[in-house]
Amino acid sequence: MIILVNQLASIDGSYLSTWKDVKKQNPKANFKGPTPKWFQQLEKSNIIAAECSRRLLQNLTVSSPARYDSMSPPIQKASNYCPKNEWTISWDLVHQCELYGKTIEQQNDLYGTSLTYRTHYIPVVDADTRSNLTPKKVTPTLRPCPGQCGHSVPFSGNLHPKCIIVSLTSHLILFNVHAKKFIPNKQFLKLEKSFIFPVTPLHTLRTQAFTFSKHRLIIPNVLPSTVPILSTLDLYLNANSEIFNNSINLNLNISSSLFINNIFVGNRDLIIQLLEIAKQFLLRKNFIFYTDGSFFSLDVTSSTQTQMGFAWIETTDATPNSDPPPPSYKGALSFNPSSTKAEVYALLTAIIAVPDNSELDVFTDLLNVIHTFHVVTNKLTSIRRILKCNNHLAWRLIDILITKKSLIVRLHKVKAHSNDYWNDMADGLANAARQLAPYEINPTNLPGSLMTPIWASIAPIDRDIRKFCHNLTDVYTFN
Ligand SMILES: [Zn+2]
Repeated sequence: MIILVNQLASIDGSYLSTWKDVKKQNPKANFKGPTPKWFQQLEKSNIIAAECSRRLLQNLTVSSPARYDSMSPPIQKASNYCPKNEWTISWDLVHQCELYGKTIEQQNDLYGTSLTYRTHYIPVVDADTRSNLTPKKVTPTLRPCPGQCGHSVPFSGNLHPKCIIVSLTSHLILFNVHAKKFIPNKQFLKLEKSFIFPVTPLHTLRTQAFTFSKHRLIIPNVLPSTVPILSTLDLYLNANSEIFNNSINLNLNISSSLFINNIFVGNRDLIIQLLEIAKQFLLRKNFIFYTDGSFFSLDVTSSTQTQMGFAWIETTDATPNSDPPPPSYKGALSFNPSSTKAEVYALLTAIIAVPDNSELDVFTDLLNVIHTFHVVTNKLTSIRRILKCNNHLAWRLIDILITKKSLIVRLHKVKAHSNDYWNDMADGLANAARQLAPYEINPTNLPGSLMTPIWASIAPIDRDIRKFCHNLTDVYTFN
């Protein structure tokens, strides 16, 4: 039997579950009976702090499965993000109060931060009509927060909850609620339809949340400086399910591992924008793209989010200064920064946006990209040779997509900074794109990849692995 660490860890991957929870979390895995020896051993050797029902795992590598959860199974749409019926409590350090909520969506970003967006629920203090009850005897009752409570975050789209809160996933404590039909102590309650009844007394939950926040180790206490607005990719995908079911663009087929949402991980707005523009292109066959990348070395004083931005403009029906402007797309990247990488992703996203059987003329100012393009798309080039190219994740995707979508792609060189109107416009967009939050290719969904080498649980190594290791050893020896 093979047991995966994330079968034994809590939802965010930072804690070792109790044996009881392990059994509950893995109904199919056939974990039965009392706590086995090996599990006791694991408890002994891996737990730093056993306070309050959550058990910190010492071995930090365990948190990487959670991070790469966001990069895992493609087909079950967003199942990682939207656990059904997950109720949690957390402690708000700023306001010194507890926050109850029901999970809407969990977002794991590129840097390993996992945020959970929840519908805010508040206790109903006067639901139980009996007086003189101890806090533990009062029927625990929650109802949706009507908003304006000082905790809500902005969200986009027509989500029906009035109040949405966001917390670090690692700060949440799970609790159970009674099934909709079961109402505890019915005869003593003033009932309302929206009421939810936790199994555990609110007083106990509150104490748990508070002590958990006091004994928290390692885990940072604050939210990241920019919390992305909940843009509910799920809602968008549901609303467009008809188009995404049987599309003439492979990348718009929700059941394909090459569906746009399965290719990328990170900034969801960039994913939605790419889906949108691919929808606009569905009825066309011929395209002219001007692509550009923008790369600046790291500057701590700058306000930009990333070092790499890229952009393209589709100019078939456009004339300079025309109104409205031609269709365009821009995005930002984070790992292994280089100007070539930015340019390659511009080409990749253009290829993703067009329907199958299209013809593309792509104008780029990097000769390097044109050269590698011919190497990678040449059917005589071995996979070993391709794996030595920098950014081979993107290049392999480009090659696969051209074949699977039966595309004809012609690359042309334009002179950089030669007052070419479209090239300059792409350049401007790419520079602006560095303000955006980044995304990256999800390597687990790439057809034909058996394994992806990952550097320090941070990012896939998408370059010559032998050279990469060489550099590391050289640096080490030098030290
Ligand atoms: Zn609220």
